[in-house]
Amino acid sequence: MKLVVIGGVAAGMSCAARARRLDDFAEIVVLERAQHVSFANCGLPYHVGEVIKDRDRLLLQTPASLRDSLALDVRTGNEAVRIDPEAKSVLVRHLDTGEEYTESYDALALCPGASPVVPPLPGVDHPDIHVLRRIGDMDAIKSAVDGTAGRPGARHAVVIGAGYIGLELAENLHHRGVETVIVEMSDQIMPPLDRELTTQMESYIRSYGITLHLGTRAAAFSQSTDGRLRVELENNQFVETDLVVLAAGVRPATDLAVAAGIELGPRGGIKVDAHMRTSVPGIWAAGDAVEVEHLVLPGSHLVPLAGPANRQGRVAADNICGRDTTWGSVQGTSIVKMFDMVAGATGANQRQLTAEGIPFERVQVHPSGHAGYYPGTAKMHLKVLFEPGSGRLLGAGIVGFDGVDKRLDVLATAIKAGLTVFDLQDLELAYAPPFGSAKDPINMAGFVGANLLKGDIALWYPSEYPAATEGARIVDVRGPDEYDIWHLPGAQNVPLPTIREACADWDRDVPVRVYCAVGFRSYLASRVLVQRGFTDVKVLSGGMDTFRAFHDVTPEERIDTYHPVVNYAEHITGINTGKGLPPAGPASSGTAAVARTGVTVDLDCTGLACPGPIMRLQEKMDSLDPGDEVLVHVSDPGFRLDAPAWAGKNGHELVELRPEGPGYVALLRKGGAGQVGGAAARIRDKKTLVVFSGDFDRVLAAFILANGAAAMGDEVSMFFTFWGLNALRRENPPDRERSLMERAFATMMPSGPDAMPLSTMNMLGGGPALIKRIMRDHNVPSLPELITSAQQSGVRLVACTMTMDLLGIARDDLIDGVELGGVAMMYGESNESNAQFFI
Ligand code: FAD
Repeated sequence: MKLVVIGGVAAGMSCAARARRLDDFAEIVVLERAQHVSFANCGLPYHVGEVIKDRDRLLLQTPASLRDSLALDVRTGNEAVRIDPEAKSVLVRHLDTGEEYTESYDALALCPGASPVVPPLPGVDHPDIHVLRRIGDMDAIKSAVDGTAGRPGARHAVVIGAGYIGLELAENLHHRGVETVIVEMSDQIMPPLDRELTTQMESYIRSYGITLHLGTRAAAFSQSTDGRLRVELENNQFVETDLVVLAAGVRPATDLAVAAGIELGPRGGIKVDAHMRTSVPGIWAAGDAVEVEHLVLPGSHLVPLAGPANRQGRVAADNICGRDTTWGSVQGTSIVKMFDMVAGATGANQRQLTAEGIPFERVQVHPSGHAGYYPGTAKMHLKVLFEPGSGRLLGAGIVGFDGVDKRLDVLATAIKAGLTVFDLQDLELAYAPPFGSAKDPINMAGFVGANLLKGDIALWYPSEYPAATEGARIVDVRGPDEYDIWHLPGAQNVPLPTIREACADWDRDVPVRVYCAVGFRSYLASRVLVQRGFTDVKVLSGGMDTFRAFHDVTPEERIDTYHPVVNYAEHITGINTGKGLPPAGPASSGTAAVARTGVTVDLDCTGLACPGPIMRLQEKMDSLDPGDEVLVHVSDPGFRLDAPAWAGKNGHELVELRPEGPGYVALLRKGGAGQVGGAAARIRDKKTLVVFSGDFDRVLAAFILANGAAAMGDEVSMFFTFWGLNALRRENPPDRERSLMERAFATMMPSGPDAMPLSTMNMLGGGPALIKRIMRDHNVPSLPELITSAQQSGVRLVACTMTMDLLGIARDDLIDGVELGGVAMMYGESNESNAQFFI
């Protein structure tokens, strides 16, 4: 038997190796057009980042080693050009010499993989734009970062696409000190995960100084005046960079198959049966090029992952060698890490189930990766989807730090085995404090899921807000400290221990919507209420943690200083040793409300869930003198939002907040008596601009001032009110229903900076064109470029919500990255500023 395999990586090499093990007398030829076979694609980003230092470690086999160990005839640099199914032969071109020859076969395994999507955009053929699929691509990106003779290394990069390849590459570019921007057309990273699971990772990524542009795409590439690569985004922003990597997905490589008359499936991949046979006799196919059945979803699917590719190659070989082995289905189990955070999914997500009309229930829980009292853990966000009634598992997604991978694998196995949420309750999983909890996160998800199906708990979901709370009593059963930091509008604070007494005179027929931090205390409260005759009690699934993640409260989050991150391993050994103590950086020099005493105490709050860290911090602060500092280590990711709010409210100074391991480390300086809310204490090198005018030249001046101040190292906030708001409008806002008045305003008002008139010499609209030409001739950046550069320098652009209401402007009508605020926010900012401008 003579087997010819086209493609010598995951699927192809698995097929060839398995065939050899089953048939030692077969002639096996592997055709690979690239220079390497059997290399580790999945390791490519890590060599760019020099995490894997030795390039050779990615080359798992060579033609010589495969000849020696498996007697395979592996031919690199040999491209299969055409298949002749009638003659059972392949036309092959030797790429070095251009010579062509014919190779006959008894069986052909088609494993050509997939090709990165290269969108047909203007300028996409620029030499500094790359893809990452093969060793050669990796070499090109790495040498762009390293610098080549006569060319300095790239210091800035744009990665297009926030799937796992884009994210891994961004992390590794960051490791190399390259300032990195990710552009993603969807409004979230990591498409296999539901939205509420990704927001926490998005804000974590941003905390490393990586910029994320979500909900927009690259529109064109060009050369800037100073020779850099310029990426124009659809939202009218520009990014100047040294290097672009397209990681916008892959397409199955099907040219050979189509030319040979092989049938494709509805998603454009090669159609195969359960034996990995194509529609043409004698030809099998496997890997990224094929589409196969999904374990949960109807129809066939393209799931370009290494695991399925390897296993499909093996199934093809079995059948080629006369065995009757069938391929089951894919479930898309995938995982990615960004720094210390890990995200993964298996089975179907909520979006997919909804799109397919498959009924489902869902639970969201936030247990720790391992026992909270053992160092180095953090809360994870675990979402499990299952069938109503039977509880059969349909899918799961997890985001967290420690122990995400093992929970994901347990759930992947459980889904494959057809287990239910009831079964999850009973799984006996490995436990000792460094590894898990006696009630493992998997058990916890099972308990909540089973309670839901048994009717012991009724849930409402963040996506149902505010409708779910209308006409209901909203009850926040957390402690007052937690309630003060953030609560739902209209919620009354009834801490759990007081609920029995408090509910005595409540109307039992009024619906109650109860919530807490993660869903546990609210579950207890709901049991109290239900047993007292309340007829409609629902608990917020996953509590405030899920709510805040779903509604993405990130605009309120700000970290004023950013310092390089402490390695997680150092973090574990460095707890309470003072190791990794932040240096007295710019934020701590001279800006403090109270002078530093030099006393710094360490506080370890790792493993404590909210409100634990805040309570411990409050206790510690009470024992200190003004000017003393606390260096607090926290693993609760919510601390990032809570720390500035708590410090501000209590008159302490947040000197520094930065990621550390699975959480954050913060340096807080105790304020003096009477400091609470004291504005003078907070004044710093900060400028506030109120932009009222909608004239092009005035807005231009405002942005020149703002960019200048930012370049001087000042913090800058720009508050856009009335006509000034037009500068932040998108040129082409998404369609939505508008009232008559809104339509009138939208037509009359300039949409975006390019449509704004001059304050004088407007010359019936000719003036702005003239001035823009003069600006271009003098290399003055355009207004859109100034807006982009202001945003990139950290200038806060705040839209006045009152004006938005008056003029019928919605959030989506404004460019990305704009925060919404009112007069109080503007005054808050100006109170902290040492200069204000009204334009
Ligand atoms: P490929 O590995 O692409 O191999 C196909 C081969 O066929 C190629 O070498 C190609 O040159 C050759 N070929 C194509 N046409 C011809 C022709 N006409 N003649 C001769 N040769 C031809 N998956 C995961 O599960 N986890 C990960 O962490 C992960 N990380 C990844 C990171 C990166 C950067 C990349 C690029 C992929 C990653 N993947 C990951 C995906 C995984 O690598 C693929 O799913 C897997 O390699 C697919 O195997 P395949 O054999 O179908 O295709």
